Amino acid sequence: MNFEDRLQELSRQQGYKKPEYHEDALKLDSNENFAISRQFQQELLDGAKKNSDIREYPLGKSERLLAAISKYVQVPTSMVGLGNGSDQILDLILCNFVSKKTRILTSDPTFGFFEERCRLYSIPTIKVPFSKDMTLDVKDFASKFGRADILYLDSPNNPTGFQFKKEEVADLVKRFKGLVIVDEAYGEFSDYTLAPLAKRFANLVVVRTFSKSFGMAGLRLGYVVASKKFIDVFSRVVQYPYPINTIAIEAGIIALQKSRQIEDTIRLIRSERTRIVKKLRETGAFDVFDSKANFVLFDARGADKRIYTAMLEQGISIRKLGKIGKHEGCLRVTVGTKDMNSKFLLAIRDLLQ
Ligand code: PMP
Repeated sequence: MNFEDRLQELSRQQGYKKPEYHEDALKLDSNENFAISRQFQQELLDGAKKNSDIREYPLGKSERLLAAISKYVQVPTSMVGLGNGSDQILDLILCNFVSKKTRILTSDPTFGFFEERCRLYSIPTIKVPFSKDMTLDVKDFASKFGRADILYLDSPNNPTGFQFKKEEVADLVKRFKGLVIVDEAYGEFSDYTLAPLAKRFANLVVVRTFSKSFGMAGLRLGYVVASKKFIDVFSRVVQYPYPINTIAIEAGIIALQKSRQIEDTIRLIRSERTRIVKKLRETGAFDVFDSKANFVLFDARGADKRIYTAMLEQGISIRKLGKIGKHEGCLRVTVGTKDMNSKFLLAIRDLLQ
């Protein structure tokens, strides 16, 4: 296919739909982490600046970050690779380990970026729909094994917040013969990580990020935990020479030194998540789904567009997702600071009065 034809073909693709940008709005639409203080962010940036000479390529720097991550996730350094956000890692896996002939088994819905990337590369997907209560049946999921070459699970799932039990995913990894990609972008907000299991299963690749729990989405820093063999190929052949910038590397090292502070924030987000679910349920106006991530999905029972617009008028930006399975009008709200969440809940209460 020549360049013009390919350009024409790609121009017909929908591409990734970014959330709308609303200046000065309370940002509860992209699952970022505002519970991390500005001061924490400042300390990371000040420290990173002090340790950086950006005239140099970051030669030898990523090794220090890899050592810090390896301690954090408790796997050897040789089992960790880096990416410019976990988005880039997922993309590199799709480009290099997947083809038009390999079928990926995932859930419906699944992470939007991943789905769009599969579409871009014409990779066929098999999707297992969520049930009415936004859960997945593990037996139902496993029954599709025979038709798939690769599994992709965002664990917890974006946008539902659902996560299989640890033993269930471990069992899927054990039984499935092909590559299993477990995307733990929201892992720290959930009950477990599967990363250490990569020591036992060579078909398991766990993708993680600093964007969510560490509140560093703007620095674009992600990592992957997998077998020594996979990481050797990933870091030597696929991802080189300097994909991660010096400031992000240094900030990542400092963030991991301060992971105690992160734990407090995660605790807060979890308890605020419980509060949001409870308060939304108490209104009686929504179907609210349990979440293991830093966001809550709810079906506004036909009032989604009205609520979305009314929230924006109050300066609060949430995510409008529309139809998900049997639910016609879904909205997703990120768990923010106590104050942000209270403003959101108050606005909802006022709207329903
Ligand atoms: N995976 C999932 C499930 C996500 O929701 C996101 C963030 N939208 C990512 C990966 C990407 O995160 P990042 O590129 O910021 O590391």
